[in-house]
Amino acid sequence: MDENLQRVFDQINEEDTLSLAKQLIAIPSPPGGEGPVGVFMAEWMKESGLSGRLQEIGPERYNAIGRISGVNPAEGKSLMYNGHLDTSQGGLDPHDEYLVYGELSNHKSWQPVPYMEDGRLYGAGSSNCKGNVATFMIAAKAIKDSGIELNNDLILAGVAAETGKAEIDQYQGPRYRGHGIGTQQLLNSGVTSDYAVVVESSRMLVNWSLPGVLYLKLTVKGHPAYIPYIDNARHPIYKALPIIDAIREWGEQYTKDNVYTYSGTDGKPRGEIRPNVNVGSIRAGAPPKPNYQPAVLNMYVDIRTSPARLPQDVEREFRAFVRGLDPEIEVVTYRSQTGSAPEATFVEDLTNHIEDSYRTVYQTDPIPLHWEQHSRWHDVIIYHEHGIPCVKCGPGPGPEGSDYTRRSLSPEELVKAAKMYAAAALSICQVAE
Ligand SMILES: [Zn+2]
Repeated sequence: MDENLQRVFDQINEEDTLSLAKQLIAIPSPPGGEGPVGVFMAEWMKESGLSGRLQEIGPERYNAIGRISGVNPAEGKSLMYNGHLDTSQGGLDPHDEYLVYGELSNHKSWQPVPYMEDGRLYGAGSSNCKGNVATFMIAAKAIKDSGIELNNDLILAGVAAETGKAEIDQYQGPRYRGHGIGTQQLLNSGVTSDYAVVVESSRMLVNWSLPGVLYLKLTVKGHPAYIPYIDNARHPIYKALPIIDAIREWGEQYTKDNVYTYSGTDGKPRGEIRPNVNVGSIRAGAPPKPNYQPAVLNMYVDIRTSPARLPQDVEREFRAFVRGLDPEIEVVTYRSQTGSAPEATFVEDLTNHIEDSYRTVYQTDPIPLHWEQHSRWHDVIIYHEHGIPCVKCGPGPGPEGSDYTRRSLSPEELVKAAKMYAAAALSICQVAE
């Protein structure tokens, strides 16, 4: 192994990596409450010689930014590692949390308390994305502590507001404002790089094609009536039943029709996106008043979109379909983000560096990523919008295992991720002479 790389690897150990991941997990950071964990991360980077600082993106919401400045920026490329500090858990009131997650909302693996079970690290955000963030922090500190200088900049970004809530109805304010506004602020304010890696779980395999997202609210109109006067033909809940069924059927066909596959520069298949459709919430009437036929029923639908289509194109198709079911249904769009699938050549150099570091650390060839790991929205897309080659690559379990184990990371995964990030940084930013 390269002598410089060995010097950096000698600085990476399981104890420090696991300890940092636990410290991040132990600071609660539901959407809208990322302040304290951002402060911790910025302080840690400052103390580690990584120029930590904060960037406010809203009340008590920060991006934490660190940097190793290159000494010869004409050489090599600058590289940014990006991981989100908000956890998908929390941010709703407890009643809504229970309606969405059931018993899981009270489970210990969703609390900001780290614990080990069967040799794996659990706690809110363990594999999404706090453990992942800890690994690139450790990688950068190891480079710094090794005394090696880089030609070009290595930038670290712990961002707020990545997870997928969106404001609608009475759900307004920072708790519901997410899906990438932290990274947008980061890039819009000039914290950019030549290359970027978003460290979402992928078993350290690489992908660069992601679906877009539409959130739509449908209002089925009925007629309010006290119980002696109920009229089933104008009852919005009964009117909604065949509509829900029709959306399910439409969605099943839509997913099949919109599967997106892509290849690497060698022409070999790299992955597949299956854009799903989900009726995620239904609201009508009020629980203390079942004696009333409600006036309206609201339905909230998530439609993932192929990167080959604009969300507004899918929206038009869906609106026409809904109109065919009942012209009186109102449709309001409250999230619309385009997917991204750049040509393989756009990310080829970055991908080669990352996959070479995979071979160095794992001593085997990387394989294509499973479709489940492709069919999600991540901040990768925002980098592409800014013309920055970016891939997703982070520690975390694959499709095998249970929903429970997927919320955890093993110490071995954490250490290997830290080593991979260090190796990729050395080869992309280049070691200074
Ligand atoms: Zn995530």
